[in-house]
Amino acid sequence: MKYTSTRHTHPDCVSAAQAIKNGLAPDGGLYMPTELPTLALAEIEGLINKTYAARSAYILSKFLTDYAAQELLEDCSAAYAGDRFPGGAAPVVSLDGSLHVLELWHGPTAAFKDMALQIMPRLLSRALQKTGETRTAMILVATSGDTGKAALEGYRDVPQTKIQVFYPVDGVSRVQKLQMTTQMGDNVCVRAIRGNFDDAQSGVKRIFADAEIAEKLDAEGVFLSSANSINWGRLAPQIVYYVSAYCDLVRNGTVSLGEEIDVCVPTGNFGNIFAAFIAKQMGLPIARLICASNTNNILTDFLETGVYDRNRAFYTTMSPSMDILVSSNLERLLYLISGAEKTAAYMRSLAETGAYRISDSELALIRNHFIGFYTDEKETAALIRDTYEKYGYLCDTHTAVGMGAVRKYRESGESNRKVLLASTASPYKFAYDVYRSLTGESAGDELAALDALTEKTGVPIPAPLTNMGERKVRFPEVVPPADMPAEVLAFAARK
Ligand SMILES: *Cc1c(COP(=O)(O)O)cnc(C)c1O
Repeated sequence: MKYTSTRHTHPDCVSAAQAIKNGLAPDGGLYMPTELPTLALAEIEGLINKTYAARSAYILSKFLTDYAAQELLEDCSAAYAGDRFPGGAAPVVSLDGSLHVLELWHGPTAAFKDMALQIMPRLLSRALQKTGETRTAMILVATSGDTGKAALEGYRDVPQTKIQVFYPVDGVSRVQKLQMTTQMGDNVCVRAIRGNFDDAQSGVKRIFADAEIAEKLDAEGVFLSSANSINWGRLAPQIVYYVSAYCDLVRNGTVSLGEEIDVCVPTGNFGNIFAAFIAKQMGLPIARLICASNTNNILTDFLETGVYDRNRAFYTTMSPSMDILVSSNLERLLYLISGAEKTAAYMRSLAETGAYRISDSELALIRNHFIGFYTDEKETAALIRDTYEKYGYLCDTHTAVGMGAVRKYRESGESNRKVLLASTASPYKFAYDVYRSLTGESAGDELAALDALTEKTGVPIPAPLTNMGERKVRFPEVVPPADMPAEVLAFAARK
């Protein structure tokens, strides 16, 4: 299978290994497979009694055709092993007959990014071999919190790689900040920037596009690669858990093979929900994709009007991993709906004016698959409480935004299908806000909230979030966005 740019001005197709190694296409577009593989019901049936690792290797082999089946099975088995995912890789918890929660946070950092970032460094390592690369791959990450830590854990001490992470200084939770600033490993560097997530992300994008920086890095024997969800190596592993969840629902008799379900995803950069869309296009029986947003509801508006307009207020919410105004992976959907030429034009318009408008027929095509709802801060807090009271189920702030979208979707009378809701973080990752939502009281600070929440609910704290306060801060630095290029060069030169 070959990969091409969503903007296509670069005519060559590349292999999966090259797409994973490069991250971003040379013309600034995102890599997409030139055609989508299919998944027949009989194949789904064949996966029902397989382990997560085997399901994963099977689905990935359809996309990563230059990787041997045995290589993929080895990598998936190591990535999703029980010592890394003690609660299972992606278990489905049924709250009632029609609402099923796909828990994607049983990995080393307690958020769904682990699902991709535990396997992606292995795929990159192989990609370096497959492409004869001798330089060091330096992973550059802009993060709104969860990606950064998950990438640091995934890449730490992986040979022939370095990883540098930039996060908005006031845009992540205290626990997220501590997770990153105390990161262990010899090949890691973490910097806070004075700005928001979009400043961090556009800073990273500019560095990727800067030929002069690339030249200087090359002289150091270093090249840049991304771990953001724009990398196909991030996206492909996310397709797997939707297939896996469907297999589990069939296996336990909740749905019959072939029965359509709806999938709701708390959305920021549009990576997770786009992976569900790919699964749907391959043949997984999904009827509707419910795109859940918080007060930063740019995607809700886009799915309603066809206008994507980032010229609007930016809100810092208690679901910070969704505080995003430019959802990069939406470009991939535009590519599938409108083709490369129009996608390039939309992205140009976005860069120049901060907005673009798709045609009514394009919007209609998108709305065949997607519907958007947003949940404000007050509703989010109420949903955390209601969900706990009704089901005894403790959910985090992002998942609660999804709960809000499910509720609104149901109330709209659009469907009575069963819903699979992607739960993207452990409630303990956002314990302060979860505790306050639950009790109406402050737990003091975020670290105290971890203990207060487990005391109140009896739900155990995941191991990666214990003893947070006792770890040594290795990366206290805060820099202006303008210093990002210099930080990159300095870290690349460090031996
Ligand atoms: C990253 C993240 C999201 C958003 O996922 P996207 O793929 O960027 O849409 C939602 N919730 C949590 C907890 C996250 O870490």
